[in-house]
Amino acid sequence: MADQALTSRYYCAACGTAEDRGTSYCHACGSTRFVDYPPARIQRPLGITLLGILQVLAGVVSLVLSSTITALLSLTPFGLLGLGLIVISVFQIIFGAALLTGRNWARIIVMILAVIELISFPLGTVIGIILLIYLTRPRVVAYFKQQA
Ligand SMILES: [Zn+2]
Repeated sequence: MADQALTSRYYCAACGTAEDRGTSYCHACGSTRFVDYPPARIQRPLGITLLGILQVLAGVVSLVLSSTITALLSLTPFGLLGLGLIVISVFQIIFGAALLTGRNWARIIVMILAVIELISFPLGTVIGIILLIYLTRPRVVAYFKQQA
C-alpha cells in the first residue's frame, strides 16, 4: 500500500502538496521541484519573512519611543500610559518573532487584523484582500501547519 503510494504520487518540495507523479509543476504553488516523501522542513515564504521582520523592527522602534515617553512622563500622572505603550511594543516584537518561527496563531491573528482592515476602504480593503489571499495559499499554510 505504502509502496504503491510512493510510486504513483510525489510531493512538492516547496509546499508539500501531493501530486501525481509526472506532473510538471505543483498546482498549489507552481514549484517544479518534487520529492518522494513529504518534505520534513518547509522553508519560510519570503512574504512571511518580510512581514515578521517589519513587525520586529516596528516593535523595537516603538519600544525605544515608548521608553523615552515613559521616562519623560514618569513624574506625571501619565506615567502609566507610557508603560502601556512599552507592553504593546514588547507584544509586537513577540508577534514578529512568532511569524518568523512559523507559529500558526500568528498567522490567524494577521488574518483577523486583515478582516478588520477590509472596512477601511479603499487602501485597507486592498491590503486586507491581498493579506487574506496570501495567508491562505497552500505554500504559506503548509509552512505554518508544520509546527503543531
Ligand atoms: Zn507546491
